[in-house]
Amino acid sequence: MNWDEIDLVVVGGGLAGALTVDYLSSRGKRIAWFDRQIGSSSSLTGAGIMNPITGRKFVYSWRFDQFLSEALVTYQALQTEAHQILHETGIVKGLPTPGDINNWCLRLGEPPYTSYMHEPVSAQSLPCLRMVEQLGLISPVYRVDMTQAIQAVEAKWGKSHFGLLHGPRVLQTHAGMTSVPERLPVILAIGAPVDPVNSLDLPLSPYQGQALLIRSSDLPSDRIIHHKLKVVPYGGDMFWVGTYDQWNDLTENPTSVGEANIRMLLETYFNIRYEVIGHLSGIRPAGRTRRPFVGVLPTSPNTFVINGLGTKGASLAPLMVKTLCDSILFHIPVPDHFSIPRAEYVLRRMFYCVGRVCWVCGTLKEITSLHDYKYPSSHDQFYSESARRNDHSKPCCHVHGCRSHPDHDRGCHRCDSFAGGHGPTVVQSV
Ligand SMILES: Cc1cc2nc3c(=O)[nH]c(=O)nc-3n(C[C@H](O)[C@H](O)[C@H](O)COP(=O)(O)OP(=O)(O)OC[C@H]3O[C@@H](n4cnc5c(N)ncnc54)[C@H](O)[C@@H]3O)c2cc1C
Repeated sequence: MNWDEIDLVVVGGGLAGALTVDYLSSRGKRIAWFDRQIGSSSSLTGAGIMNPITGRKFVYSWRFDQFLSEALVTYQALQTEAHQILHETGIVKGLPTPGDINNWCLRLGEPPYTSYMHEPVSAQSLPCLRMVEQLGLISPVYRVDMTQAIQAVEAKWGKSHFGLLHGPRVLQTHAGMTSVPERLPVILAIGAPVDPVNSLDLPLSPYQGQALLIRSSDLPSDRIIHHKLKVVPYGGDMFWVGTYDQWNDLTENPTSVGEANIRMLLETYFNIRYEVIGHLSGIRPAGRTRRPFVGVLPTSPNTFVINGLGTKGASLAPLMVKTLCDSILFHIPVPDHFSIPRAEYVLRRMFYCVGRVCWVCGTLKEITSLHDYKYPSSHDQFYSESARRNDHSKPCCHVHGCRSHPDHDRGCHRCDSFAGGHGPTVVQSV
């Protein structure tokens, strides 16, 4: 590699790496692009759904509209006749219990949910489903073919070279071990770090996901079905069905347990004939704070990371790539909410999620059961017992009146603050 002819180095051939290469190359930069080239990654496994409403309580995804508008521009610009990347669709959600229907209906009529969620309908309209009476439709929803997006970048700028990262700036290439010169910025878009670079100390908590590719003529091809499993149309009679997730065994290979589990759910909750034609697996680079991040690697100068795309890489990657590249090229500061979270913040947030820390003073308290929670009177204004029980009648951000569920690790969907971030702060103390 002749480093004199290079302006920047990108490591990682997944969606984040490919979009970074496209962004920088389109602005006239000469890029050396490396990947370990093992033929599997989270991007090649994932279904690429850009879903505005997620989770069992149907929560609006953090800053979704901001991410979506950058994503649509990026993928439309990249799309060609040979590489169809964006697919507009809808998600039909199974609402099997009265609680699910209640949670769904509580969202209706409340912005921004009104733009995406529709009145529940009877499940009789989808005879392929079992054990569900009501369905909710989320639309519009887009699916990004992440494989096509990567291939479109490769067609435009050339494929990545083989390069296995050993340290933040040390690569093993076909020519042997090489260190990237200090003057060259290196961007690490390596997803969930595995050996030999698992010591980058990034605040990640990755987990593995598996999916099956099936053929079936008993499923609708114009919408995604989410009922215990996600069934995603992949064109013709082909469907992506997932997921089986595991946190303990971060193997990159699909397992027979994974396949058996997906088959079992498919046969229990779907009334279809099908044939399995493929089995995929990838490790999602989930951040410990469940938020994506970009910035300078604290332990290595002139080395940058983009990571934490977790379960939402398709929608998050374009804006995160733009934020990182603009900070390198034009010195535009990375906003705090996209920066690599400080260790203390990660800890606070993790403990906040499991309900053990006072968000104001950071004191850790041991909690033995849910009944140990107490709500000090100064703080319970917007975070009451009823809010904890999913009664969304009380807003959790008193400035915007939003009703993101405060039990989740999400703040107000407009200002990102936790309930009372502008005033009385939510406290969980013993
Ligand atoms: C089962 C499953 C379903 C998913 N469904 C969705 C979905 O519906 N919607 C959505 O938005 N997201 C989904 N995702 C998540 C999405 O796939 C990820 O957020 C996204 O692909 C992450 O992209 P990335 O480029 O950061 O990481 P990756 O895609 O993992 O890419 C990292 C790249 O870096 C390379 N690399 C790693 N280590 C090294 C090294 N040491 N040296 C050199 N190269 C290295 C890898 O080979 C890989 O090519 C899903 C993921 C899975 C697993």
